[in-house]
Amino acid sequence: MIKELQIKCVIEGHDFVELACLNEKCKANRVYCHQCLKNGDHVAHMKDQKDLKELIEFFYEVEQENGSLISKLSLMFGEIIKLFTQLNQGLEQKFQFSKDKLLRLNAKQLNQALDQVVKYDEIKKGLFEEIKKF
Ligand SMILES: [Zn+2]
Ligand SMILES: [Zn+2]
Repeated sequence: MIKELQIKCVIEGHDFVELACLNEKCKANRVYCHQCLKNGDHVAHMKDQKDLKELIEFFYEVEQENGSLISKLSLMFGEIIKLFTQLNQGLEQKFQFSKDKLLRLNAKQLNQALDQVVKYDEIKKGLFEEIKKF
């Protein structure tokens, strides 16, 4: 038995914990002793049992996987921030016209600006639909 995990079974009067059950649907105690096994706990899914050494390895594997998940999520978060910054900049460019800015446009530019602005509601709707897809 592994020294660090010399813990008593939660059931009163039972022995030290020896095994762990990884069956997702199991309702019995996850860590348990040989007496629990004798009482019939986990016998229906023996293939999902691990000894304590394997249990520590299992926690280690999950820890590693979780670390890489956190890194991936951080990267995705960075990408999302970047996309939103670009999106906001685009919106500002297309739809924010102060009087000063308007007065500096020539007819062609004003045509283009108005062409976008009249479609504002449509573009806004499309944008929310795109965002929902994420
Ligand atoms: Zn027990
Ligand atoms: Zn079980």
